[in-house]
Formats: sequence, C-alpha cells, structure tokens
Amino acid sequence: MTASIPGTPAWHAIEPQAALRALAASPHGLSDETAAQRLAEYGRNELAARPPVPAWRRFLRHLNDPLILFLLAAAVLAFALGHLTDASVIVAVVAINAVVGYVQEGRAAQALAALRSMVAPQARVLRAGRSCVLPVAQLVPGDVVLLEPGDRVPADLKILRARALRVDEALLTGESVAADKAAAVDRGDAALAERASMLYAGTLVATGQATGLVVATGAATQMGRIGQLLDSVQEVSTPLLLQTARFGRRFTGFAVACAALLFLYAFLARGYAWLDALMVVVALAVGVVPEGLPAVITITLAIGVRRMAARHAIIRRLPAVETLGATTVICSDKTGTLTRNEMTARSIVTAAGGASATGSGYEPAGMLAPEAGAAAALPAAQAVARIGALCNDAQLRPAGQAWHVEGDPMEGALLALAAKAGVHAEVLQAELPRIDEVPFDARHRYMATLHADPGGGSLLCVKGAPEQILALSRCQLGPDGAEQPLDTRRWETLVAQAGARGERVLGFALRRQADRLEALSQDDVANLCFAGIVGFIDPPRDEAVQAVADCRAAGIAVKMITGDHAATAAAIARQLRLADAPRVVTGARLDAVSDADLPALAAESAVFARTSPEHKLRLVRALQASGETVAMTGDGVNDAPALKQADIGIAMGRKGTEAAKEASEMVLADDNFASIAAAVHEGRAVYDNINKVIAWTLPTNGGEVLAVVVALAFGIALPMTPAQILWVNMVLTVTLGLALAFEPPEAGVMRRPPRRRDAQLLSPFTLWRIALVSVLFTVAALGMYEWTLRRGLGLETARTMVVNTFCVMEIFYLFSVRYLYSTSLSLQGLRGTPAVLAAVGAVIAAQLAFTYLPWLQTVFDSRPLGLLDGAVIILTGVALMLVLELEKLLLRRLGWFDELRRPAPSQPETSP
Ligand code: ADP
Ligand code: MG
Repeated sequence: MTASIPGTPAWHAIEPQAALRALAASPHGLSDETAAQRLAEYGRNELAARPPVPAWRRFLRHLNDPLILFLLAAAVLAFALGHLTDASVIVAVVAINAVVGYVQEGRAAQALAALRSMVAPQARVLRAGRSCVLPVAQLVPGDVVLLEPGDRVPADLKILRARALRVDEALLTGESVAADKAAAVDRGDAALAERASMLYAGTLVATGQATGLVVATGAATQMGRIGQLLDSVQEVSTPLLLQTARFGRRFTGFAVACAALLFLYAFLARGYAWLDALMVVVALAVGVVPEGLPAVITITLAIGVRRMAARHAIIRRLPAVETLGATTVICSDKTGTLTRNEMTARSIVTAAGGASATGSGYEPAGMLAPEAGAAAALPAAQAVARIGALCNDAQLRPAGQAWHVEGDPMEGALLALAAKAGVHAEVLQAELPRIDEVPFDARHRYMATLHADPGGGSLLCVKGAPEQILALSRCQLGPDGAEQPLDTRRWETLVAQAGARGERVLGFALRRQADRLEALSQDDVANLCFAGIVGFIDPPRDEAVQAVADCRAAGIAVKMITGDHAATAAAIARQLRLADAPRVVTGARLDAVSDADLPALAAESAVFARTSPEHKLRLVRALQASGETVAMTGDGVNDAPALKQADIGIAMGRKGTEAAKEASEMVLADDNFASIAAAVHEGRAVYDNINKVIAWTLPTNGGEVLAVVVALAFGIALPMTPAQILWVNMVLTVTLGLALAFEPPEAGVMRRPPRRRDAQLLSPFTLWRIALVSVLFTVAALGMYEWTLRRGLGLETARTMVVNTFCVMEIFYLFSVRYLYSTSLSLQGLRGTPAVLAAVGAVIAAQLAFTYLPWLQTVFDSRPLGLLDGAVIILTGVALMLVLELEKLLLRRLGWFDELRRPAPSQPETSP
C-alpha cells in the first residue's frame, strides 16, 4: 500500500517483527551506509514545496503598479509624438526601478528561506545502535525513531514499542480527542483513524513514549498523499507591513487625485502643453508615492532576523521582530535558562546524618565524606545514591578532558554522586533490571522506576520534589536500614535550609515488595519509605546576571517561573538581582487567587515557584490584562497554550519539544536567557531603523514635490524636468534609503523604556521632521535655482544645480537621520557603515555621470558644473545638517525626547 516500497504489506495489519523483516531493518536501527543508500533511493523525507513563482513573473509584478503603468502609457504617448529621449528615459527609469525592487524582494525572500531552514524539525533516531538527533528530512524507510510527548511524528511509523502512548491526530482525521496507540496488529480493513498500531507523519505525541519503525517517508506518507503542506514559517506579513501597505494605498489614491487636479491646473490655467503637463504630474506622483517602503521595511525586518539568529534567537514568525522591541515583561524558566544547568550534587542528608561530596563537574571521581560524628551516615547515603543510580535515564560519557551528560543534567550529577559513594551504576542497573517506569512530569514532579529483584520480589525507586515524595511516604529509612516513623517536620526544615543556600533539592524513597509487579502505574507510587535528600548546586549563568541588569535598565521586568522549590528559586532570584526584593509566590497560592486579583499579584511578584505549566497561561493572561507585552519561555507540550497566548512565545531550542517550538514566535538556539535580552535589543534597533527609513524617505520625496508645485503655482519654469524628477526619485532615493536598513543599534537603545504597543508609526516627532525637512529641501532647491538663473547661466544649468543639490542634501540628511535623537556629529556618526558608504559612493558616481557624461547630458539635458557651484552645493548640504543638529539640540533642551528616558510605568520594583 505504500508507493515507496514495492510489494510491501499493509503495515497496520502485520506484526512489528514482520514489518522489520519486510524492511530489512533491525530494532537497533539501520547502519549509516544502508541509510545513505536508502536516502538516495527513496529521496528526502519532505513534501515538495509549492512551485516557485518564475523569475520573469516576479519581475513583471514590479511593473504592475497603477503609477508605473501610467508612466509607461506616458512613454508610449511620448514615443508616438516623437519625443524619443523622454520616452526612453521613462522606460529606462522604470526598468531600473523594477530591477531594484526585484533584487530587494529577492534578498528579503532569501533571508526568510534561511529562517525556514533554521527551524527545520529534528527527530531522535537509532542508527547502528546509537541514538542520535537528525533532521527529519534525512529519515528513510527502516529507520527506528524514538518519540516523546510533544514530538511531531516525523514519518509514517509502525509502532515497535509504546508506553501509555496517546497521539493527537486531528490534523489527519479531524478527531480532536487524542487516540490511544500501542504496538499491535490491526484488522486489515481498519480505517486510518482506527489503526492503533500506526503513527502518521504530522500528528502530535500527547503523552507517553514510543519506538517506531519508519515505513513511509515524504510524498509516500498519508500526509503526502493528501498533499497537505505543513508550513514551518508563516506568511511574510506583519502588522507594521500591513500598516505601511495600507498607508501606501491610501497615499497613492490621494496622490493620484492631487495629480489630476494639478494637471488640470497646469494645462488650463498655466497654458502648459498637455503632454508636458502630464509628464510632470506623473513624474511627481511617482516620486511622492513611497512604493519602495514595504520592500525596504521587509529587508529591515529580515536583517533584524539575521542579526538575532547570530545571537542565538531564531525568529519563527516575522511580526515577533517588531513585538520584541515593545516587550515589557519577560517570564523565564529557571533551570538551564537563568542557571547553567550544570548540576553538581553537593550533599546527601539522611536520617543517620549528612555527608558531602568533593569533586566538580560530572567527573565520576571524588569522595563522599560523612559530617563529623556521623559515621553511620555513609551507608545510609549509599542507599540514597543507589536509588539515584537506578531511578535514572542519563549516561555519562568522557568528552576530552571533561565528562558529558547524555540526558538530564541532574540525573548525570546523580551518576557522578553514585561513583563518589562507591556505587557502580552500570553494575547495579544490570543486577536490578528495570521493568517499568513512571516518567518525570512537571505536573506530578517525580519519577519512579520498578526493578526486578534477583531474589524474586520487586523494588520501587522514586525521586522527585521532596514535598511530593514526603507526601507519598509513610516511613523513613533509619540509621541501621530499619524503618522508622516519618519526621516530616524535620525534613521540611532541612529542605528549606538547603533551598535557602540556593541548592536544588531532590527527595528519594523506595519500597521493597515480596511479589513481582509486572507494570507500574501512578497509583502504585505510594506507601514509600523515605531515604533522604540530595542538594545540587546549579549556579546562575554569568551572562544572565548581566542580561537581567540590562533588561531592568531598559524598563523590562524579568520574572522567573519555575517548578522548583520556593526557597531555591528565591535564592537564585537574589543572586540574579531579578528585583530589589524579589517576592516569591507559589503555585498553591496562585491556585487560591481569583482571576480578578491575579494581575496585581503577578505585577508585584518576581518569582513563581512550584508552578505547573497551567499556571503559566494564567500568568500571561493576568499580565496582559494589565497592559503588559509579555514574552514567555517554555519547553514542554503543556507549555504550548501559554506560549501561544504570550505576545512572544519563546521555546527552548535544545530541550524544547516540537509542540512548544510550533507554538512559539521565537526559538532560543542555546536555551540562554541572555539571548532573549539580545533579541529585545535587536528588536528595538529594527523598529528604530524602520522609523529612520520612513523619516528619511518621506521628506526627500516631499521636498522635491513641494519645489515643483511651488514653481508650477507661481508660473515659473520648472526647476526640474520630468526625466530629472524620475532620476532623483528612482535612482538616488532608492539607493540611499536602503542603506538605513543596515544601521546597527544606537548606543542608548537599552536605556530607554519599551515602546508603547499602541504608538503610531508616524509619531508627532516624525511628522514634524517630515514637514521641517520638506520645507528646508524646497527652500534650498528653489534658492539655488534662482541664484543660478540670476547669474545668467541658463535654465539647463540651473536645473542641473537643483538635481545636484537634492542629491547632496539627501546624502547629508542620511547622515543626520542615522541618529534620530542624538547628535550625528561624532567620529562614529561621520564615519558611517559599509552599507552607508557603499550607497553614498554609488550615488556620487551616478550623480557625477549625470552631470559630466556627455550621453547622460543629452538624455537628461544636464550641463557640467564649475568648481564654485560644486562647493556651494556641498555647503548647502552642510548647512542642512547643521540646522538639523540645532533642531535636535533645541528639542532635547525643550524636553521633547524626555519620554524616551522616563522610567517605564507599572514597574515599581524595577526603579533604581
Ligand atoms: P524548573 O522550572 O527549574 O526547570 P522542573 O519543572 O524541571 O523545574 O522541575 C521541578 C521539580 O521537579 C524539581 O525541583 C525537582 O524537584 C523535580 N524534578 C525535576 N526533574 C526531575 C527528574 N528528572 N526526576 C525527578 N524529579 C525531578
Ligand atoms: Mg525543567
């Protein structure tokens, strides 16, 4: 039934063993050679992307703009009437514009494709007996895949082994209730939704664990047959882009209406030849409409995405780039994100006394020393170490000088501790083979394993949050190994003491059983005998301390949400300086608080301890209800709803599940809090750059239009010909404006409060700038025009002067706008960036050609200019820059920029 393997059986109706035979596979996985061979034979495990739009169609799309079409019509008309030069200039300029637009779009698309490959899903596969993580696309029929909750099934699989497996198949069958799955044989006529022994590509593991055999990949999967494509990245649109596109459309309508009026005025009242009038008006309309803006904004966003990726923050949805800059609260995990997740077991406490371990890292070398006067503690501590070694899924491997953990770092630390206590973990695990287990879950906070005792009975080993283990225990292990009454009070004190030192504490318990249990369920985990506690140190990441300080300086509150003990969480929060006096709220308290009271509690607390994933959702909602823009981290399946709800859901790249990644806007490649702060930093820079692009583009267009309209209104000869207007608009402006997309962040971006979510794109300040610069451009251009005419140099020279003046002013204004609020007159400011220098160099070369190359002189009717003229033009640029510097200084004095420095509202605890 599967197209990829000829003559293969109906996989659901055969035994797992038969499936293995049919695919010449083994439960230990394929060898690397076989896998490579099959990859060549069956192809990559992916669905063909939509056919790409051919290049010529993409190119023509840039001509499909009302104004461009209008311009082309004018060219045809000009050609018909014998105005050959005009016609060819228009065509050339339109072509250049389309090429630039095409190239810009190509770059944006490239950046997004790179984004897509960064979030390519991965799967855990057995190859030649070793488990490794591979890109899903490399799976081949016969591969053995390991699945956990939150994993997306990477191909069609026959289940080899499953434990408590439930799979959400809504994508395929529309059934919203997760289906139970098991290694079995289904009836031959079972429908897709009834095949309990099969897992289909694209469905989601809700609970349990499984090992499955790949039976179909790529287009041969059920999903491939439906032809449905799972897009890993959303469409290229963001609120900001939509806003600019809408703005652009309205503006075009407005410009066309004004152009029509202007045309009538020029033709009827001023007696222009109708073709001349038409050309001027169309050239102006083309100039005033910022068609390039959406493309430049997309490129700015894409560059931001690339910069964030370089800092380990991978954006999955483009709008997140904007939202990041407006973030007011970051809710972060503790273990591994704020701390290093390099666990070292420091101490064991038993009823017979305590013992402490020497050594560092995961190296299984060192000693376990009983505290003074408690020699009996040693055997009791060894009992705890044995539970830790049995109730354990990790492995230690030497990696060069150091040792490396395969699995949970805390479990790795327990293996190292066992070695220090003289317990051989591997020997012990072989002696007492594991029969079944209850895996760790953030909701019940313990893990239990069931072992076969060689004597015939069974042994239950449990480790987890101490309160939880104490609650499940009915006695404790005494000094001589005998059972004693449980002294819960004393253990709680000991746990609180270790927690206050910042240690992560785990409780251990066991239960011996004379009969042999065959399977383990949660209900069996009770009536335990408490053996002791172990304290781990997991220091805060150095860079997290700095990043938290940066966030607080930037008016962003940082909150820690952890499953860990309140005392431990509080100690770590103090070390991180999350707040001046971090307040801790526990999950139990959260349960008791009503939704109405939660926002206040959430705002004033910095640490949430012993929480379950469900609490995250309530916290996000509460914070959002008080107007915050919330970034929230998560890794498990159960975190997905909170990640979706958050303004920025942040999934962990390493320990995060596929479900968490799919629900989030951003993935942290290194699971590190500092990367979130870096992403916020870049997000603010992106928004600034977009602002700069707008603040630069609109007044350059505005000034030029104003100059021509004024000339038209006063009936003087036009200061620029239509061809010249097009030259300025489509060659100079487009080249220069793009340079702003590459601006690095300004120095103060992380010292001002977050941007308000509802802030207008065109702020009063931007509007004022646009008006001011438009007027300055107009005055300078017309002044230059008059001055040249008065000197009797002729109309053509005067017009050449005007075009050159525009060019120089655009360049100087570019340097000015690079620093929106602070002075541009610094060494760094004047030196520019490679992008700025390249753009300026290109524009200067083009402008010199315009002025001095004979054939361009014919085309544009331009004249060579003298040295004095050149000097005066450059001085005009300098003057413009100085005027704008004066303006910044004045506005700073008047306090216009004060709001940029005001501490953010609603964050009393972060004020210095
Ligand atoms: P965090 O928010 O710090 O990542 P977790 O949700 O991972 O905390 O863990 C919460 C608590 O669950 C821990 O403090 C610990 O007591 C317990 N725990 C964590 N991992 C394990 C494990 N592998 N086995 C048993 N208990 C665990
Ligand atoms: Mg954890």
